[in-house]
Amino acid sequence: RTVYVNGEFVPEEEAKISVFDRAFLMADGVYEVTSVLDGKLIDFPGHMARLHRSLNELKMKPARTDDELLAIHRELIARNDLESGMIYLQITRGAADRDFIWPTDAEPGIVLFTQAKEQVNAATAKTGLKVITVEDQRWARRDIKTVQLLFPSFAKMEAKAAGKDDAWLVTDGEVNEGTSNNAYIVKNDVIITRNLSNDILHGITRAAVLRFAREAQMKVEERAFTVEEAKAADEAFCTSASAFVTAIVEIDGATISAGEPGPIAARLREVYIDESRKTAI
Ligand code: PLP
Repeated sequence: RTVYVNGEFVPEEEAKISVFDRAFLMADGVYEVTSVLDGKLIDFPGHMARLHRSLNELKMKPARTDDELLAIHRELIARNDLESGMIYLQITRGAADRDFIWPTDAEPGIVLFTQAKEQVNAATAKTGLKVITVEDQRWARRDIKTVQLLFPSFAKMEAKAAGKDDAWLVTDGEVNEGTSNNAYIVKNDVIITRNLSNDILHGITRAAVLRFAREAQMKVEERAFTVEEAKAADEAFCTSASAFVTAIVEIDGATISAGEPGPIAARLREVYIDESRKTAI
């Protein structure tokens, strides 16, 4: 694979970053994952808007303009013949002597790489996912997309050890989101998903899917829901740039929607893929 590191396109074996990069020492960096479908980027402007928000919240400098970032994304797609998959982009505060106080003049670090993955026909689109619930122990600014992913990784390992696919992270009996996706239930044809706040990541796919749902006259409620409500729901699903819309068919051992993707999740997945294909750049 060809990757992009601090201004250069290089084979992945030759890519180098400083051991003093603050993302490596202190998780002092932010990232975005943008999906590639038919060799084109899904919702690139949305990902750039959130990147700027994350950078701003952490008082970090944007390493490149959006136009430059778009050109780098496209160059990586071309160099790696990427038809379907993701592009990972990470911007770090840069390298500095290890100290909790950061220098304001460090040169930001920037890394991008591709990951090929079949998305439209992913196996999980037909089977759905099984989840467990885990008490959410992440920090309180989950709206910022930082590279400190140890707790979600821990929770997903717990799910794997239990023979399941993912974990829904819970506070006071209410579902925040999945380890790397936003969480939804459907009850009596109403789509319910947690309202935006510092407690969850403001998913770019979430925004698109809610917009499509409302345009299709589906009912949407943005509010917290409990694990108990979720277990008794008609359907459940999650959204993310890499999973699109994927059904949840089991929550803590309780079967949802007869163990198969429900009609609303299936329809939203179809609409999301169709619309994304039309607007990808
Ligand atoms: N929530 C968390 C914690 C995530 O890590 C992600 C994506 O990686 C999402 C939600 C979904 O966000 P998006 O739709 O922008 O991919």
